[in-house]
Amino acid sequence: MRIGNGYDVHRFAASGTLRLGGVEIADAPQLEGHSDGDTLIHAIIDALLGAAGEGDIGEHFPPGDPSTAGIDSRELLTRAVRLVAARGYRVVNVDATVIAERPRLRPHIAAMREALARGLGVEASAVNIKATTNEGLGEIGAGEAIAALAVALLDEGGE
Ligand code: MG
Repeated sequence: MRIGNGYDVHRFAASGTLRLGGVEIADAPQLEGHSDGDTLIHAIIDALLGAAGEGDIGEHFPPGDPSTAGIDSRELLTRAVRLVAARGYRVVNVDATVIAERPRLRPHIAAMREALARGLGVEASAVNIKATTNEGLGEIGAGEAIAALAVALLDEGGE
């Protein structure tokens, strides 16, 4: 068994549609970033890579790489899971916390679990997502950004 943790934060752009946990959320703008800015998926990818001893997301998907500009982060997740499998590991479970003042995430959690479970190759019951606010403190508390933390557990049994 191997455990890894991940953290990411992205600020809101002025326009677009929010992508978080692989789900489109219409009542908030997109997050800035080289990809689609999906901070939750990025935190999970870092947790997976960390558990596999494979460095971090910036190493595998460099922000200057034109081939991943604007890419759907679900595709990055698929690639990370493939890499972890190639190292001989499979995902046991993922637990994540999203820290956001806006939008309200509760109605979207079930869809995020489904989307992430598909990407991770596990049942939705193996993906837990918690949502909290930053109690109005700092930039996240002012609703300018969304942060995410994730922990992933891997076990032997990949490819
Ligand atoms: Mg990121």
